[in-house]
Amino acid sequence: MKPGRHILKRLMALFYKPLQMHGHFFLWMYLLGLLCIMLINAFGKHVAVFELFLDLYVVTALLSLLPQKVGRWAEVLLMAFFYILAFVDVFCNWRFGAPMGPAFIFNCLQTDGRETGEALSTFLNWRILLSPVMLVALLGVVQMGTPSLPPRGEEDGLSPDPSPKRERSLKGKEVRRGVVLFLLLCFCGYKSSVNKQFLFHNYFVANDALEMEYAHQLPYTTGFYLPIYRFMEGLKAWSIHQNQVKKLVQRVELTNVDSCSFRSPCIVLIIGESYNRHHAQLYGYPLPTTPWQSKAAKDSSLTCFTDVVAPFHQTSEVFKTLFSLYAYGEQRPWDDYSLFPALFRKAGYNVCLMTNQFVKHPQQDIWDFSGGSILNDERLSAAQFSHRNTMMHKFDEGLLEDYDSLKQYRTGKDLIIFHLLGQHFDYSLRFPKEKAVFSPHDYHRPELSQEELEKLVAYDNATYYNDQLLKKIVHRFSQEEAIIIYVPDHGELMFDGSKTFGRSFEVTTPNEVYQQFEIPFWIWMSNSYREKHPEIVREVKDARKKPFMTDNLDQMLLYLGGIYCQDYRQADNPLSPNYNCSRPRLLMGKMDYDRVMGRSKK
Ligand SMILES: [Zn+2]
Repeated sequence: MKPGRHILKRLMALFYKPLQMHGHFFLWMYLLGLLCIMLINAFGKHVAVFELFLDLYVVTALLSLLPQKVGRWAEVLLMAFFYILAFVDVFCNWRFGAPMGPAFIFNCLQTDGRETGEALSTFLNWRILLSPVMLVALLGVVQMGTPSLPPRGEEDGLSPDPSPKRERSLKGKEVRRGVVLFLLLCFCGYKSSVNKQFLFHNYFVANDALEMEYAHQLPYTTGFYLPIYRFMEGLKAWSIHQNQVKKLVQRVELTNVDSCSFRSPCIVLIIGESYNRHHAQLYGYPLPTTPWQSKAAKDSSLTCFTDVVAPFHQTSEVFKTLFSLYAYGEQRPWDDYSLFPALFRKAGYNVCLMTNQFVKHPQQDIWDFSGGSILNDERLSAAQFSHRNTMMHKFDEGLLEDYDSLKQYRTGKDLIIFHLLGQHFDYSLRFPKEKAVFSPHDYHRPELSQEELEKLVAYDNATYYNDQLLKKIVHRFSQEEAIIIYVPDHGELMFDGSKTFGRSFEVTTPNEVYQQFEIPFWIWMSNSYREKHPEIVREVKDARKKPFMTDNLDQMLLYLGGIYCQDYRQADNPLSPNYNCSRPRLLMGKMDYDRVMGRSKK
C-alpha cells in the first residue's frame, strides 16, 4: 500500500473513533438537541439539524481526547448539564413565551436564591405535566432505560489478539464509516458556516451590547439555536452589562448639582418611537396624520423644530446618549457621564417615569438591556426615578392611567417622562383597529405590493393614534405652569422613495438618513408658562430652526430645570445664545449628517 493512502485510511478511521468511544453520548444529546430545536426554534430548523451534528461531533471529539475514565465522567456531567439547560429553556419558552435569554440570566443573577425559589414555586404546578417540558423529561427517562452500548471492540467481541484477517475487515469498516462521517461533517460545516461567524462575533468579537445587537442583525441562519448558546449569550451580555453599569453608577453618584433654580416647575418629556418626520402632517405630509399637533402649531402653543436629527437609529443607543450627559464628539466615553434624571432628582425634582417599553419583563432581549439597563438597573433606577410604572400596555394610552395613579406623588417640582411604543413595528398593533382613519384607498402607490401598502397605511394610522394620545397627554397639563418636549428616539424607513420599511442595518444613502434620522421635535408651553417665562418663549422661538441632534437634549432639559453642574455645556444647549450651531452632527458617531445630505454648515 502506498504510504499516502495508508495515512489517509488511518485518518478516516480516526474520524470515526470519537463516535466509537462516546456513541451513546452523541446519540442522546443529538436527540435532546433536536427536541429543543423543534420546540423552540422559530426559524432555521432545517439548517440547525446539520449544525447540531457538527457541533456535537466537535464536543464528542474533545471528550475522546480525555483519558478514558475522565472522559466517562465528563460525559455524564455534560449530559446532566445539557438536560438542565434544556429543561430551563423549554420551561421559559412555555411559561414566558421566550426561551432563556439575557433577561432570564440577568434575573437569576440579580435575585437571591429565596426570590428565585419563590418565583419558581409559583410557576411549578400541575400544569407543567401537560407542558412541553415533559417531553424533555420523557427523553431523559427513555435514555436512562436504554443500556449504553459498550465501546467498540468489546461490542465486536474483539479478543485481545484478533486474527489479522478479522482486524483488517474491522479496520476496513471503520475507514468506510470514517469516510461517510467526514463527508457528512463537511456538508454540515458548509451549512452552518454563516451561523458560526455569527456565534464567533457574539462571543469573541463583540465588546459591548451594541456590537452584540449588531450581531443580531448580521445575516445568520440559526442564531443561538441551542439552550447552551442562549445561556452563553446571557452570560456574555451580563458581563458587558456589569462593567458598564458599574462605571455608570459610580459616575451618577459622584456628579453633584452645583445649583438649581427650578426654572420650570413642571417639565414633561415625551419620548416617542420610530417616528419618520416625513409622515407627519406637521412637517408637510399630505395626509392629515397629526391634526392636533398641526392645530397647536398654528395657534402657537406648540413650537415645531425644523432641523432635528437623532444620533442613532436604534433605541438603545439613542437612550444612552439621550439620558447621559455625553454627546458625540466629547472626549470621555458615554458611561463616564451622569444621567439627566439623576441630576434632576439630586436637585430636588420629583422624577416620574411611565414607559411602555422598558418595564421589567421576562421577554426582555439584549436590546432591552443595552438601552433599558440605564433605566432598569436597580441602582440606576433608584438614582433617577422617584416613581415609575410597573406594567406594559397594549396601546400607549394605558400610560395615561399610569400617570393618573402616580399623580398623587407630585410635589410641584416635577419632571415627568412618558416613553411610548409610538410607531414601533408591528405598526398594525400600535392602535386599536376601530381607531384607524386611513385605508389603502387614500394612497396612490402603484409600485407597492398590497402587503407593503398595508404596512404604510398602518404606519400612518399609528401616527394618527400617536397624535391623539399626545393631545390627551398635553391636556393633562394645560392648566398648570408646564413645558412639554416631544422627541421620538429615531425615524423609520417607510417606503419614502424606496421599497423598504423598518430600519436598515447599514446606513449609506442620503435616503436612509432622511427617513431614519430626521425626526419631529417640538416644545409646547401652557398659557401660564408663557406668561411667567417670556424669555424662554423667545429662546424657544429663536432655536426652532437651529441644527440640533438629540444627544444633547439633556443639556436643554438641565437648562429648563435651572440645574447647573459639571457637565452642563452652554454650547450644547440650543436655547442658549452661546449654542454652537456648527457642531458636526455625527450620526452613529461617525457620519456627518450635513455632509451626507449635501448641506452647508449654518
Ligand atoms: Zn426605537
